[in-house]
Amino acid sequence: MVERTEMLTVVVSVYNEEAALPLCHERLTEVLRESGRDYTLLFVNDGSRDRSAEILDCLAAEDPHVRVLHFSRNFGHEAAMIAGIDYAEGAVICMDADLQHPPQCIPAILAKLDEGFDVISMVRTANRSAGIIKNLTSSAFYGVMNALSGTRFEKNASDFFAVSARAAEVLRRDYRERVRFLRGYVQSLGFRSTALQYEAAERAAGQSKYSLAKLFRFSMNTIMSFSDLPLRLGIYAGIASGLLGLILLIYSIVMKVRCGAPAGYTTIIVVICFMFAVLFLILGIMGQYIGVLFEEVKGRPIYIVAAERGRKREADGRQNVNPQ
Ligand code: UDP
Ligand code: MG
Repeated sequence: MVERTEMLTVVVSVYNEEAALPLCHERLTEVLRESGRDYTLLFVNDGSRDRSAEILDCLAAEDPHVRVLHFSRNFGHEAAMIAGIDYAEGAVICMDADLQHPPQCIPAILAKLDEGFDVISMVRTANRSAGIIKNLTSSAFYGVMNALSGTRFEKNASDFFAVSARAAEVLRRDYRERVRFLRGYVQSLGFRSTALQYEAAERAAGQSKYSLAKLFRFSMNTIMSFSDLPLRLGIYAGIASGLLGLILLIYSIVMKVRCGAPAGYTTIIVVICFMFAVLFLILGIMGQYIGVLFEEVKGRPIYIVAAERGRKREADGRQNVNPQ
């Protein structure tokens, strides 16, 4: 017999989404009402500077299903999703506020949860509004990630995913890194997992909050949290330069014997430049990893909740989740 997932929390991260919020609430409510199960719409306001906070407070006052967390400042999309999972109850669906993750997919997700799947990754088939550069960088990113790390990442996986109550508990308890890649954790959890396809819609309103620079930083952090291969680059560079040195040594000896004069001013300059380049590159990579370690060692909170509004359930023992 198929067991029905009772409680459902839909986590929506919000950063300056005043224009999209009312529509987002309306569309999600429509779909969730129809599903006929008990749900909470948990909006995480990631330090918005526009009227998002007021709008969310109004929604919380009007709709008993709405719960809102206000961060003390902007902590980033991932932190918002982590907070959402921390405060959620039951199965969790994470999605964006801009309706790029279509609410119409929710019934299919719920069906998979009911079938007993613990992890449902939503895979984009097309993202028309993202533009060529974003689509290209995105596939390059997944290519590099799959080459560098032991975990296999679903190409085009998005921040649209669902986890069962027990998978959410694992994320809540055991994945507390500061430098993180939530999508990657979700895919490396194991359990029974599946993927569903969806077509990313146009943004409902407003502008994308991710610049290319932000994406680049995000990609670097992700590679470092899932792969230590770059750290071992030093060993390979050492072997390569050792071999190069040996070849040059033999070449110099041969030249000395044949021509009598030590040749190769240009060679020396080229080799020095090359060696220094490799050396500094490796130093830089090590610096990046030390930066990540430093970040983790400091142990600062992933997010700070300044205020909470709306639905709080009696059974909710997670009011005081420690964001460490
Ligand atoms: N977002 C967030 N904090 C941020 C940036 C974005 O919570 O610092 C939210 C944003 O409100 C949206 C989701 O994360 O709901 C995805 O952001 P966006 O749509 O700007 O990214 P894109 O879809 O263009 O990759
Ligand atoms: Mg978006």
